[in-house]
Formats: sequence, C-alpha cells, structure tokens
Amino acid sequence: MRSTMIEKTASDLPVSPNWLDSAQARAAFSWAAEARELVGLPGGGLNLAFEAVDRHAQGPRQDRIALRLLDRDGHSRDISYRALGLQTNRFAHLLQRLGVASGERLFVLCERGLELYLGVLGGLKHGCVVSPLFSAFGPEPIATRMRLGEGSILVTSEVLYRRKVADIRASLPSLKHVLLFGIPEGEALPDGTLDLHAMLADAEDSFTVAPTTAESPSLLHFTSGTTGTPKGALHVHGAAVTHYVTGKYALDLHPDDIYWCSADPGWVTGTSYGILAPLMLGVTCIVDCAEFDAERWYRILEQQRVSVWYTAPTAIRLLMKAGAALAAAHHFPALRFVASVGEPLNAEAVWWGKEVLGHPIHDNWWQTETGGIMIANTAAMAIKPGSMGKPLPGVEAAIVDHSEEGRLTLLGNEQVGELALRKPWPALFRAYLGQAERYQRCFAGDWYLSGDLARRDSDGYYWFVGRSDDVIKSAGHLIGPFEVESVLMELPAVAEVAVIGKPDPLLGETVKAFVSLKGGYAASPALHDELLGHARKRLGAAVAPKELEFVASLPHTRSGKLMRRLLKARELGLPEGDLSTLENPS
Ligand code: ATP
Ligand code: MG
Repeated sequence: MRSTMIEKTASDLPVSPNWLDSAQARAAFSWAAEARELVGLPGGGLNLAFEAVDRHAQGPRQDRIALRLLDRDGHSRDISYRALGLQTNRFAHLLQRLGVASGERLFVLCERGLELYLGVLGGLKHGCVVSPLFSAFGPEPIATRMRLGEGSILVTSEVLYRRKVADIRASLPSLKHVLLFGIPEGEALPDGTLDLHAMLADAEDSFTVAPTTAESPSLLHFTSGTTGTPKGALHVHGAAVTHYVTGKYALDLHPDDIYWCSADPGWVTGTSYGILAPLMLGVTCIVDCAEFDAERWYRILEQQRVSVWYTAPTAIRLLMKAGAALAAAHHFPALRFVASVGEPLNAEAVWWGKEVLGHPIHDNWWQTETGGIMIANTAAMAIKPGSMGKPLPGVEAAIVDHSEEGRLTLLGNEQVGELALRKPWPALFRAYLGQAERYQRCFAGDWYLSGDLARRDSDGYYWFVGRSDDVIKSAGHLIGPFEVESVLMELPAVAEVAVIGKPDPLLGETVKAFVSLKGGYAASPALHDELLGHARKRLGAAVAPKELEFVASLPHTRSGKLMRRLLKARELGLPEGDLSTLENPS
C-alpha cells in the first residue's frame, strides 16, 4: 500500500518566513544604486533582463554556459552568460537605432532557439514590453494578439513570416518593424522586413539598460484559453523578485544546476521559468527546439545530465503512456528535482516519478496572472501526492466564498471554495489588456480571486478541485472533475481522462468521462464496465460518471491543458468558442 506522504527530499533549504520582501531576497539582487550605475543601469532601477543576464555577464561566472541550444539532430550549441550579455546588448542597440521608444510592444514569434532569447531579453533591456507567441499559432491567433497588444516590432523567422504573417501584415497597422532571421542564402529579403543578423553584426557590444523601475511594464502574456478567449495579462519588471525567490525555493535551483524547463515561452511558464528565473539564478538552461517525443525527452534528461526538470502533467502522462520498457532503457543519475505545473497532477504521476525517474514529482500551482509560483510542494517539505502543496513563504492563500457584491468570507479547513491570494506581490499582473472591468472582477478587497476551486487540509496542504467553470453540480453534490479523473487514472489501461457535466432534468448535471487508453489496450464493453464499476466503488454512485466514452485522444491547449469546454460544447452541440490555442485542431 502506498503511503499518503513522501518525505522531503532536502533538509538544508533556508526558507525564510517571508522571502517576498525579506532582506535575503533584496541582498541577492544588486539593487544598490551605486552597484547599478557601475554596471550601467542608472538610477537604481530594476530591469528583468539586467537581473537575468548582465549580473552574471559581468561577474566571476561569466563563462558559465547560460543556454545549451539543442537542434533537431541532437547537435548542441552553447552560449555563455558573457556572450548572451553581448548579444542582447546588440539586440537592444539595434532597437535603439531603429528609433524604437521605451514601452513599445515587441512580439516574438520564434521556435525555441537563440533568436527567441535575444528578442525577449534584448527587448526588455531596451525597455520594450515583450510578448512571446507560440510559433505554432496560425495567422488568426497571431493577428488577434498583435492587434490587441498594438505590436510595433516583430521578431520572427523567414519561414514563419512567409507562412503566417505576410498575408495578415496589412491588418496590423501598428506593426512598424519586422526583424527576420533564417533567410535562405541568396534570397532577397521579403518587402518591408529587416535582416536581423545583419543588423546584429552592425550593432554595438555595449548598451546602457533602459531606466526601467519595478513598476515599468515588462511582459504581455496571453492566458492559455482553457476556459474561454485568452486574456492578455500585463506584468512589470518588479516580477524579478518573485522569479528569483520561487526559482530558488520552489524549483530548488542551485548555481551548478543543469536545468530544463520543457514549456514553450508562448506560455507564461516558458518565460518565467524557461528564461527569467533560471538565468537570474545563474544556472545552465537546456533549450530544445523539438516537440514532445518520449524517447527524445528521456535522452535529453539522460545525456544532458539534467539535474532539475520543470514540466507539465500532460508530458508526464505521455511518458507514462509510452511504457515502462522505454523508461527502463534510460538512467538519470544527475537528476535531483522534478516539478510540474499547469494542471492537477494525479497522485499516480507523482509515484511514477519516484519509480521511473528516481524522484517523486513536486506539483506546484500558479497562473499567468500570478506571474510566478504561489503554492508548491518544495524540496524542504514532505509531498502529499495529489496535492498542489502549501503556499510559499510570503504568499498568503485562503479558501473563500464571495458574493456578487464582492463580500468575502474566509472558509475553514476541508471546505471547498475559491482559491484566493492576498495582494500584492511583485509578479502580480497589473492589467488585462483592454478589459479593465474583467480585471476589476479578479479582486475583492485585499484578495485576488483565482477562479479555481480548492480545499485546504488540516496540515495546510491545498488540493485542487476544479476551475469554477468546470465544476459539476449533480443532485446537490459539487463534483470536481479532477477527483473523478484521478480515480479512473488508477487503472493501468487508462492514459488520460477528461470529465464534463451534462445537463440532466432530474439531477441538474450528470458526469460523463472521456477516456483515452494506453498502447496495448483496446476499448471493449468489458473495459467500459470495469472502469465505471471502479469509479462507483471508489467515489459512490452520486459522484461516479454515468456515461463513459473511449476516444483516441483528448483536446489540449498548446500549453498542454485539457480543454474540457470543447468536449462539452461538442457533446451538447454548442458553438465551440475560441480555439486559437487548441493543439492539433484536426
Ligand atoms: P484561461 O485563463 O485562458 O482559461 P488558463 O487558466 O489555463 O487559461 P494559465 O494561466 O496558463 O491559463 O493556467 C492557469 C490555470 O492552470 C490555473 O488557474 C489552474 O486552473 C491550472 N493549474 C495550474 N497549475 C495547476 C496545478 N498544479 N494543479 C491544478 N491546476 C493547475
Ligand atoms: Mg485562467
């Protein structure tokens, strides 16, 4: 029988009671005005890219590898902190030459490679507001986001430009400069574009970082679109504090780590924890350009000697689906810490990590809006498999009930309610672009309302119940899809499950489960009945699904989240809504 707790994996973490504004965190930043001016950041301001790159590029660890870029064929290219410092300076300098003003919006539409990092970090150095997009987006999602964000500069490759941007360019009146790379030899630049590498070669090595402050806008991130049309969340440079301390304590990053965040920067995880936090902590980041492939991912973990890995439940479930034989062919002696975010992580997946990777997986919770990790199973505490962990020191979380008029009641342990966080904290978003009223609705008094339902147990651990939009009400019961999905995931045949509520005249709603199976298992009436029987035994008839359908695969967002709203819309014959973030729309 498995226990309900996994003891902590480290005991030496100096978690101060309130690091978000502790002297410790401040000391870790070169915040003193004099220090800033010495290295070229006047006025004692704060700039994310300066903290991520220049602090190291000018210090004793400047030769440390900042980025190890992997290409499709398995070749790698290393970029030191010093080189990253010079190249991002050049990028910022070329923006200056173009006459780009501070605060202008720079969009990055790149596959995971050097130009993506130069665009994000060089843009931030110059004082631009940077918005990274998924390179897999089609023309329409690109256009909608660039119009909302009034993008005036775009960094992209020749291929992506030709396929996705050229035809929508006329509909983007604010777009002034397109910086292209990957131009085939001997080919002319498309009309109205600039050659990024030629301009970089022409730019200067030194650059004085823009005088941004903690309150200057820095990044524009679009939400995943799991529950509806994606919202554009605006962040500030002060988020550096949250990135730094959460990278250190929630991801347990140490200076000699080799770290891999497998999220794309088109999703906030890939920016906060794929670019900013790890660089601030001076680690080596693995950057892989390819999409998920079980064998390739195991190989990266093994051959690159990854010590800290940050990934997502979908990827873990796909590795589980790929089977034990593939896993057994690889060994991970360098791996020390594995964390997951984005969706609830089933207890089964936490245990799989312990068995296959040699380490249980540390779930943590946050959102595009929070800018950084808020609730986590850290290395310094025991893991409860299936729980998101506890609020990080300095984060005040609560389970609340609130009325339409914004009156708020704090609920006790074991009660289900909305997960709320006391504001402010450095990485808290400052606006939903163009949706002031929607932004206001996220707050009640001192509290930020997450839109997620959860409960807290008597040990202070938080358990995800569901998004308020996905929760099912059946015969007076409030059913969180995650609880039902986790129970079905216990059976060896099951690869993935999504559960929705279907309107029912008698019960309000009934539960329907969509199930995809692991390789080697075939759908059959017997398996169908076995799954429903197991769910009834574990959950009781009131909560267990009444209906179950086998499907080849389930719809996901590009950030790897189950799109339950799409299953529901299809089931009920309703409009499918915004599908701009849907992965593999076919
Ligand atoms: P949208 O807001 O457009 O519907 P989204 O909420 O999926 O999309 P993100 O900001 O990328 O956009 O995701 C944050 C959400 O992901 C959280 O509100 C929560 O529902 C879910 N989530 C993140 N981490 C966890 C976790 N560890 N456990 C459970 N759910 C999680
Ligand atoms: Mg959301």
